[in-house]
Amino acid sequence: MKMLSEIKGLNELKKLKTDYQNFIKTRYEPNAQDCQTCPTKGACCVDAHFVNVHITKLEAAAIGGTLGKLSAEKQAEIYRRAAETVEKYNLKCSGDTFAQTFACPLFEKGVGCLVHFEGKPAPCISHACYENKEDLPPEFLQEENENKIERLNKRTYGKYWTWLPVPVWLSLINPFKEYK
Ligand code: SF4
Ligand code: SF4
Repeated sequence: MKMLSEIKGLNELKKLKTDYQNFIKTRYEPNAQDCQTCPTKGACCVDAHFVNVHITKLEAAAIGGTLGKLSAEKQAEIYRRAAETVEKYNLKCSGDTFAQTFACPLFEKGVGCLVHFEGKPAPCISHACYENKEDLPPEFLQEENENKIERLNKRTYGKYWTWLPVPVWLSLINPFKEYK
């Protein structure tokens, strides 16, 4: 297996996500409800009974890069929100992590998803509200995409990566974290 530097891995990930996002947007989203006119905007991101979005280390690094473009104060606020989410929902790194649900700390009131344009997780790219079930993107598309993400992670970090809930990875990469 040919290994990649983190910069190369991040570039490959960006290409992969952009292609997937453009494909979903043009092929499926025209049949979906318009998020701009949604009366419960963001419910899909903060519904703590439903959201269990997981990402890998490389995606966490990509999200960290996107957040890094914000002011230091804003970044600190988001990482703090992530840490509070981990605590509030008692999110763990082991066991059946996909059974854990939470309100996503990357949702910002009045703005929406902070990583919509760069670093958005695959399940979030796939997700929209559809009136007709048959208009939904088939699950295998997301699975294919996640398999490609997994391969990129292995090529970048070897075996030292794993799928974890978004707030957990944000807490692990928190550049403001104080070690005591
Ligand atoms: S995905 Fe659905 S719930 Fe979320 S903002 Fe769009 S229309 Fe609203
Ligand atoms: S990453 Fe963005 S789209 Fe996904 S749940 Fe969080 S705020 Fe919503």
